[in-house]
Amino acid sequence: MTIKLHNTLTSRLEEFIPNQPGKVDFYVCGPTVYDYIHLGNARAFIVFDVLRRFFTYSGYEVKYVMNLTDVDDKIIQRAQKDGTPASVVGEKFSKALFEDFAGLGVQRADVHPTATESMDQIIVLIQDLIAKGFAYVVDSDVFFEVDKFPEYGKLSGKKLDQLQVGARIEVDSRKKNPLDFSLWKSQKPGEPAWDSPWGPGRPGWHIECSAMSMQHLGQSFDIHAGGVDLVFPHHENEIAQSECVTGKPFAKYWLHNGFLNIDGDKMSKSLGNFRTVREVLTKYPGVVLRMFFLQKHYRSPIDLTEAGLHAAVSASERLRTFYAKLSERLEGSAASGESVSDLEAYKVFASAKQELVSAMSDDMNTPAATARLFDIVREANKFLAEEELSETDLQVLHAVKADVEGFDSFFGVIGEAIPDDNSALVGALVETLIDVREALRNKKEWALADQIRDRLQESGIVLEDAASGTGWRKK
Ligand code: AMP
Ligand code: ZN
Repeated sequence: MTIKLHNTLTSRLEEFIPNQPGKVDFYVCGPTVYDYIHLGNARAFIVFDVLRRFFTYSGYEVKYVMNLTDVDDKIIQRAQKDGTPASVVGEKFSKALFEDFAGLGVQRADVHPTATESMDQIIVLIQDLIAKGFAYVVDSDVFFEVDKFPEYGKLSGKKLDQLQVGARIEVDSRKKNPLDFSLWKSQKPGEPAWDSPWGPGRPGWHIECSAMSMQHLGQSFDIHAGGVDLVFPHHENEIAQSECVTGKPFAKYWLHNGFLNIDGDKMSKSLGNFRTVREVLTKYPGVVLRMFFLQKHYRSPIDLTEAGLHAAVSASERLRTFYAKLSERLEGSAASGESVSDLEAYKVFASAKQELVSAMSDDMNTPAATARLFDIVREANKFLAEEELSETDLQVLHAVKADVEGFDSFFGVIGEAIPDDNSALVGALVETLIDVREALRNKKEWALADQIRDRLQESGIVLEDAASGTGWRKK
């Protein structure tokens, strides 16, 4: 079955035709690792995790790359606030990110490149842009010249003059056009820096993603994805830099998820209306959060409400109870291995399966797809309500179980398939205890503070005190 995706580049629903038959090269903009991720970030990571896994389910070989932005203003600010090196901030929150991913059932990417590891590629790309006349050096900074790329604005669907009027851009009289953006920023006092032909400094955010995506997926690849806030300027600038360097089309399909809103506003760090994934995971398991997001189409906005979360809890419960009952009922009977497709009793399941897959293939219509999953549950429950089941019925149920497990390989809402090691919960609890211990130490309650450290040690958690604060690791 062909998969259709809404491509921001053309504003159309398009049939997905990969550059190489049977393969999908897929890049997702990852987080800036300067803090714990919030539930809005989680939406992006969950919906593209589902799409990645749906491609695999559909027989594609997927190469999935998600960068970690570990060189950025926000990291530097955080490091200055905490009095630690930026690298320590990056490491701490990268580790936390993977704990959150485990809690959310988000599979790790095949590659998680970081800007610091890709510095050589980034510098080569900037040199190439200067050599080809698309970028200019002022003092020790390098800017991309947007007027040199006639297609600038093609992703956001705006012309240069419209963008100039609408954009909020920092004023820098050294730029030829206010929309020109930084490829390389010279070092300011106290900032981390890398050597470059233009002096010590650091790359701009956009060039980092161009370098990392092309390094791992080649100059032209299939899918580039992220939240809708990244369309302009981040993705627009990535296209400009990459296509000017290579002279080839960069990513073919651009996918963007809608926002998670809270009381009508985008959940964001800057508005302060965010809830961290690790905090929410202490109340709702990852399977529930996935179910919550799947109830809405990935491109639509979704409101975070208690009612919505409760609905996801009951939907998730219904599925898990069903799956447990089904597994129990089939214990001791083996699947015959023969096809059930001709059996009358399987027909209703076969058509629901077909509709589910076709909904997923239609720009990942998860509300329709999960509705079909619940149709399957309802039909199968009719069998499970019977006291006696014929051998044919059992064979039908075996097939249904295999189907449901197949669907869960991309939905990830039943959770049996994903080992849940509670790592996000453990992380949140340890962080809480570290805060309590810190408060006790401030009050000179040394005995109680030491007791927390010793008891954690007995449970296999080692606290490590440093000037920048207390960290922890498993023994
Ligand atoms: P950031 O660390 O802010 O660059 O965000 C990482 C990813 O999360 C990007 O793809 C963002 O577009 C996405 N994102 C951030 N906030 C939200 C939100 N409230 N709803 C949906 N996606 C978001
Ligand atoms: Zn990016």
